[in-house]
Amino acid sequence: MRTPHAAPLPATDAGLAVRIVDAIRAATNGAARAALHEPEFAGREWDYVQQCLDTGWVSSVGSFVDRFERELAAATGARFAIATVNGTAALHAALICAGIRPGDEVLLPSLNFIAAANATSYAGAIPHFVEVEEATLAIDPGALMAHLSDIAVNDAGGLVNRRTGRRIGAILCLHAFGHPARIEALVELAARYGLPLIEDAAEALGSRLHGKHLGTFGQLGVLSFNGNKVVTTGGGGAILTDDEALARRAKHLTTTARVPAGWHFVHDEIGFNYRLPNLNAALGCAQLERLDDFIARKRVLAARYAEAFVKVPEVTLFTERPGARSNYWLNTILLKPAAAAQREAVLEAANAAGYAARPVWTPMHELAMYRDCPHMGLAATDGLCRRIVNLPSSPKLADAA
Ligand SMILES: *Cc1c(COP(=O)(O)O)cnc(C)c1O
Repeated sequence: MRTPHAAPLPATDAGLAVRIVDAIRAATNGAARAALHEPEFAGREWDYVQQCLDTGWVSSVGSFVDRFERELAAATGARFAIATVNGTAALHAALICAGIRPGDEVLLPSLNFIAAANATSYAGAIPHFVEVEEATLAIDPGALMAHLSDIAVNDAGGLVNRRTGRRIGAILCLHAFGHPARIEALVELAARYGLPLIEDAAEALGSRLHGKHLGTFGQLGVLSFNGNKVVTTGGGGAILTDDEALARRAKHLTTTARVPAGWHFVHDEIGFNYRLPNLNAALGCAQLERLDDFIARKRVLAARYAEAFVKVPEVTLFTERPGARSNYWLNTILLKPAAAAQREAVLEAANAAGYAARPVWTPMHELAMYRDCPHMGLAATDGLCRRIVNLPSSPKLADAA
């Protein structure tokens, strides 16, 4: 963001921005313009949505919702999937299912989309911001372990932050841009401290680590089907779990906590109207049929980016690490520290050329409403958030020109 009175930008190397634009053009088969991530409806979407309209089942009840949940469970290997109106609602319900109560702290990375911190706030809890590492752009388990051994004490009520006196209720980790966090270490860390682990796998549908789908390592996982995700329902989300009691609780909470009582309306707690409508689920069922195709093409695009960015040594292209199979939701470049000052110029050049390159999110601890939340040392976060650029990543960009 530039204002007339802002300090002048550091001298830029016009060559770098130009070479990055050239690399995007080469990787995308010379596309004249490219959005960050566009949906594609080339399967049975029209047919399934029409079935909803023809039968009148457009709202919170209907066969596509149940079918979407079954197919999500099958696609991810989770025992249960509960569909919701969006990913943020799924995070909110997952936090409550994990036992988060008002006044608790939830450990989550500051380098994050706004949903995790907001969902924590909806639950009456306080985000406690955690450091990330460059290798995964996700929680640094070693740093978190050192932080917890410094600040956390066990008392009768559970784990407590002795600086604030508040209970620490859960770890809410993020799999950034479809790549796995160091999730096995986080599972171990969470178990050691007796904390439930929730995975924000909103960006990671179809991504696996050692064959296991992201979002199925912790007690609860969350997916999103927003319009810019790998698979879209227009708006939508889901909670994944292997735990039958948690699945039942998630379904109950997200469907207004209504209990069976014939035609009477009886609710046994304050629930949420978070059920995914049938119309959206119909779209989702058709999109899921295309998931493997979407990911195959996105992986071709990622390989083309890797080839094109060989010529740009000032930049590291983020690639999957050993054992991971990523959906490459977004292709991400990291400007090396010496080139970080040129990020704004890179964004401007790419967007002027028609390519919707985007910076990463403003870290949560810099936002007005979260500035006073507890946090650990965030030096890596502060550095990384100024070096990340996300590149156009729609599946169709891999198709022959
Ligand atoms: C998309 C996304 C969500 C959920 O977003 P909704 O728009 O509410 O579905 C949550 N976390 C991350 C990291 C996301 O990218």
